[in-house]
Amino acid sequence: MNKTKKIFATLIKPLPIEIKSKGLNTSVIGGFDKYVLSWSRKLKEESSNKKVIKLTKELIDIVSNYGRATIDDRRRKLKKIINLINQLAIEIDGAKIFKIQDNNLVKIEKEKKTKESSLQQLPDFWQQSVQYIKGVGEYRAKKFKGLNVENINDLLYYLPRDYNDWSQLEKITNLKSGMKVTVQGKVTEIKQIKPRKGLRIIKIGITDGTGILYGVWFNQGYIKKQFNKGDIILFSGEVKYNYGQLEINNPHYEEIDGESLHTNRIVPIYPTTKGLNQKQVRKIVKRVLDQYRAKVPEFLPEFILDKYSFPCLQEALGQVHFPDSKKDLKLARRRFAYEELFILQLGLALRKTEVQEKVLGLKHDQNNQLVNQFLTSLPFELTAAQSRVWQDIKGDMESTYQMNRLLQGDVGAGKTVIATLGLLKTVQSGWQGALMAPTEILAEQHFLGLEEDLESLGITIKLLVGSLTAKEKREVIAEIESGAVDIVIGTHALIQQGINFAQLGLVIVDEQHRFGVRQRATLQEKGDNPDVLVMTATPIPRTLALTVYGDLDVSVIDELPPGRKPVVTEWRTKQARDKIYSFVQDEIKEGRQAYIVCPLVEESEKLDLESAVEMFEQLEDVFPDLELGLLHGQMKADKKEAVMEEFRIGKKDILISTTVIEVGVNVPNATLMIIEDAQRFGLAQLHQLRGRVGRGEKQSYCILIADPNTQEGKERMKIMTKTNDGFKIAEEDLHLRGPGEFFGTRQHGMPDLKVADILRDQDLLEVAREDAFKLVRKDPQLEESNHKLLRQFLTESFDYDLDLIDIS
Ligand code: ADP
Ligand code: MG
Repeated sequence: MNKTKKIFATLIKPLPIEIKSKGLNTSVIGGFDKYVLSWSRKLKEESSNKKVIKLTKELIDIVSNYGRATIDDRRRKLKKIINLINQLAIEIDGAKIFKIQDNNLVKIEKEKKTKESSLQQLPDFWQQSVQYIKGVGEYRAKKFKGLNVENINDLLYYLPRDYNDWSQLEKITNLKSGMKVTVQGKVTEIKQIKPRKGLRIIKIGITDGTGILYGVWFNQGYIKKQFNKGDIILFSGEVKYNYGQLEINNPHYEEIDGESLHTNRIVPIYPTTKGLNQKQVRKIVKRVLDQYRAKVPEFLPEFILDKYSFPCLQEALGQVHFPDSKKDLKLARRRFAYEELFILQLGLALRKTEVQEKVLGLKHDQNNQLVNQFLTSLPFELTAAQSRVWQDIKGDMESTYQMNRLLQGDVGAGKTVIATLGLLKTVQSGWQGALMAPTEILAEQHFLGLEEDLESLGITIKLLVGSLTAKEKREVIAEIESGAVDIVIGTHALIQQGINFAQLGLVIVDEQHRFGVRQRATLQEKGDNPDVLVMTATPIPRTLALTVYGDLDVSVIDELPPGRKPVVTEWRTKQARDKIYSFVQDEIKEGRQAYIVCPLVEESEKLDLESAVEMFEQLEDVFPDLELGLLHGQMKADKKEAVMEEFRIGKKDILISTTVIEVGVNVPNATLMIIEDAQRFGLAQLHQLRGRVGRGEKQSYCILIADPNTQEGKERMKIMTKTNDGFKIAEEDLHLRGPGEFFGTRQHGMPDLKVADILRDQDLLEVAREDAFKLVRKDPQLEESNHKLLRQFLTESFDYDLDLIDIS
């Protein structure tokens, strides 16, 4: 203990007793006042800290006439004394030491600094409201709340959105127009000029002995009062040479008083709000850092810090708010980006193990007779990729754990076959399978396909969609309940109340991006933890899949069936329409079929419909001797089905359609896809539409008719002509639109990342995921003593709603 501390400790000894006696001045023989006076003087002499000296003087003033005061006066004085002692304690010991409790003075327990406790628990201040931080108070606490900052934890993690580098300190003589610098000097001039009515210019001149620099403000009279001649201050900003004078307009400024916060350094820029300005936020953050940073425990496992040479949390917090250098800042931000992704992945990993541990699923039979029968009946062999993912799925189904797997595969990769294998396997085990599709058209198509394929195997398969008659529905539902149906294909209708499966073994959700997690869950609840497979053709870039589907196992069919010729894609303007139509005519003469997709009319199904009908009528004139079909979302289901069927069997040459055919429709003889006003569609949608052709052996074509008037629109068309790879397209899409737009709102699945950038930090995301899953495999509950803090941090600081992490 240094001498000041010793003196201070001696000085405060009698205080509790004096308080208890309510100011009798008897806590020390010879008088409390004399005692405190003599030790206060010693303290004043010993200390070199200005603030301590000032406080001690005040203390001496109050105590000197304590003995002569009335008892009531003494009580008032005592309160002031405690206040002063606490302020002194902060200066000398770094924390308050007393508080009044039940009219008694209580010594505040000092934080235990044992290693054990700091490792296992977040400190008490972590969740303390910001309101009680000096300089905050009720009003600013409210303002902070508007910025989502409520407690110390939030404030420590209130990371700057940007920085100004004012670390370049320059002599005035070296200044040149355009330099961004900080200059230190003494205020020599304070003047105000009114060149004309309504314009007031404040000029503050400073000098460093090598020249004069002016800070210039317009119409901000209060500025004048901020400066006094002789003050030593710092100006930061961009230098301008104006009529022979060096100036900085609206400089950032501060008086030299200890450490600079607003100039002369890399200065943080925080998101602010009305009533809470940049300088205030900086000061408050600085105060909190000074007070609490040293007590912030590290919760990332040590091996991680070592592995990536990350700064520890205390260091990183200091550097991210008030960086010493750009390099330190970069290191700190990298740590926080990793931390954010690691915590996110850890949450997902925990949820996943939780699901796996708790939810014992159904154990499917190892007998593959039906599956093998079906496989031999197929006119083709599975591709290597299909075989691989089937092994994954089979393994999951035969295990006791509940399957939660995502099957990704580009359009036409052959996901349906895999789904069929799964359904057969569940039937083989004596259970029922359900396949849920996002549209009636698709459900019907699946139904027709499966019915044809599985009839010979003696399997009962039924369709359940909204447009069935009430009687039909009742029948199907009854059969589902009795177990008479082996496989049921449907839309949302499947998850309605009142439908109870006799024994649901497998749920498959096709084109999963159209379903939410909750819908998936509802379907699962219809059985006793059946296995779940979700299939998607939305090619989600790997990095996003890791984030969005972080809790699912992922299998990818990354190979198309052999013999597929890549679809030739061309971008044409409207002027070329005649030529395109004659090309269509030629292809149809060769026996092919074509889709023509109508312009997308946003937000209005009615307009959508009109545009489709109009287009249909126009095209009847263009192709008088061809058979045209019309398909749109508002047709009755049986009508839709009839049109699709006619197209499927070749009775219609051209199908004019809205985007209802976007998903899953499979007519291999159709080799032409014409998309009108293609610039109105997003990349993912264009790719889906294109996926309707190129399904047979013949060369297919996709023609985009578009006159985009934005650069981004042109970009999209170009990307489409350049690649057929859905994953590349998704990646480009992500780059063009950014993750937020790519997925829509947060509810649509993107966690709200503050530091990490999914595109820029792909590498970090990958390693963070690996680390998180490894950790959870090793310590599934995070119970090991050096993981407890991590667990606590996760539950207290992790505010992603995991249920929302889904794209629906
Ligand atoms: P998607 O993955 O888009 O759902 P589908 O399952 O509809 O693709 O398959 C597209 C087409 O490819 C279908 O006509 C299907 O019969 C065919 N197909 C699937 N797997 C193979 C394969 N291994 N070899 C040849 N054709 C296949
Ligand atoms: Mg499909």
